[in-house]
Amino acid sequence: MILECEKFKESMESEEAECRHPDDYCQTRQSCMINYIGKERKREQAQKKKKAVQEE
Ligand code: SF4
Repeated sequence: MILECEKFKESMESEEAECRHPDDYCQTRQSCMINYIGKERKREQAQKKKKAVQEE
């Protein structure tokens, strides 16, 4: 699925979705699917990393 950044009109695949302007003010950030997916992916990666460290 292709998602489009409402503010900067950038298109990206949902699998690679990530806000490319995380430090800029964005009026639609709270409801932005790209921002949400990107944060979820980062959170999952951090959890996997933490688990891997614990299993060592
Ligand atoms: S949160 Fe990021 S990706 Fe979403 S609309 Fe704003 S600038 Fe674009």
